[in-house]
Amino acid sequence: MDRPAGTLYVIAAPSGAGKTSLVRALMAADPDLELSISYTTRPPRPGEVDGEHYRFTTPERFQALIDGDRLLEHALVHGNHYGTGRDAVEHAFAGGRDVILEIDWQGARQIRERFPDMVGIFVLPPSREALLDRLNKRGQDSAEVIARRLANARGEMAHATEFDYLVVNDRFEDALADIQAIVRAQRRSMRVQGKRCAGLLGQLLAD
Ligand code: 5GP
Repeated sequence: MDRPAGTLYVIAAPSGAGKTSLVRALMAADPDLELSISYTTRPPRPGEVDGEHYRFTTPERFQALIDGDRLLEHALVHGNHYGTGRDAVEHAFAGGRDVILEIDWQGARQIRERFPDMVGIFVLPPSREALLDRLNKRGQDSAEVIARRLANARGEMAHATEFDYLVVNDRFEDALADIQAIVRAQRRSMRVQGKRCAGLLGQLLAD
């Protein structure tokens, strides 16, 4: 993939850590970031819009995307298939933007294989009580449903140390500022600036 200087940020978290709100605020404040809209075979939840929250698709069409090498990664999560489309990521890079992937640890591993310089950020809730509280707040669910969500959350958090950065979402504003600081620092890294400022450096070093 042609990638002038763009960075792939992979943001993962257990459900209940507030990842989606953080990503939304991050995107709203930074026009140079683009969120990749994943493909999924999961049916839409009430209020979810095709092309906005996910690209909802059938298992057959999902398989065709895999066969055609149109996905950068894909994984089975809680019984449904999810995957990151190659085209949208390529398009964002071509436009000079960075890309955010909101995916699970399995997808993060595959992205790391393809893009060893991806930046992985894992978001944690501040405590087990806070996590349980947030998992509970999702509606009037049975104890069994909540227990399953907790088990899933633990399964995801078991992979937190595979990421480059760990952000604890205690106060929302602090967690957002943390992620913005990571993005800002990354944009000044030599991998990025070496390409972006090659002309400037050449000019400054000229006889
Ligand atoms: P939900 O169906 O609740 O929106 O998401 C379930 C899980 O699927 C979350 O952990 C989310 O990060 C993960 N997920 C969403 N999109 C993708 C994707 O494109 N690839 C992978 N590997 N995981 C995804």
